[in-house]
This record gives sequence, structure tokens and C-alpha cells, in this order.
Amino acid sequence: MSVRPYLPCSEVIGFLADYIDRVLPPETIVEFERHLAVCASCVAYLASYKETIRAARIAEDVIADAPEELIEAILRSRLQ
Ligand SMILES: [Zn+2]
Repeated sequence: MSVRPYLPCSEVIGFLADYIDRVLPPETIVEFERHLAVCASCVAYLASYKETIRAARIAEDVIADAPEELIEAILRSRLQ
């Protein structure tokens, strides 16, 4: 398999979840990080993505203790 050139942004975005879960093959991580080194918009996207995950994990902890009506109200408000 030949080494591919820089990934396009669309592929980098597509790999984000796998990158954060550390399930990407090493050669893909190399390409991914090479792209991040030169692409500020993907770095910014990655930062906001990580923040979203962090917020979601906090929300899961809250939801575990929250009454069902509150959860439904939150979900409704997020859809608007
Ligand atoms: Zn990019």
C-alpha cells in the first residue's frame, strides 16, 4: 500500500470519532496528525468535538440522576 498524500478535510472530519477512540490504524493517525499540523480549521473542529464529548459525558452523569421529565425537556430544547 502506497503512502497517500494529505487527507482532505472531509476525510479528517470523518475520522474524528475513531481518532478520539484511538481505533485508527497507525498510518492513518500519521496522516491525520499531519493534516492537523497544517489545517487550523480541522484543529478547531477537533477541539470543539472534544468539548462536545466532554459535555456529553457530564450530561450522562447528570441524566443518570435526573427525573425523566427533565431529560425530555432538555432533549426537546436541543432539537429546537
Ligand atoms: Zn482540514
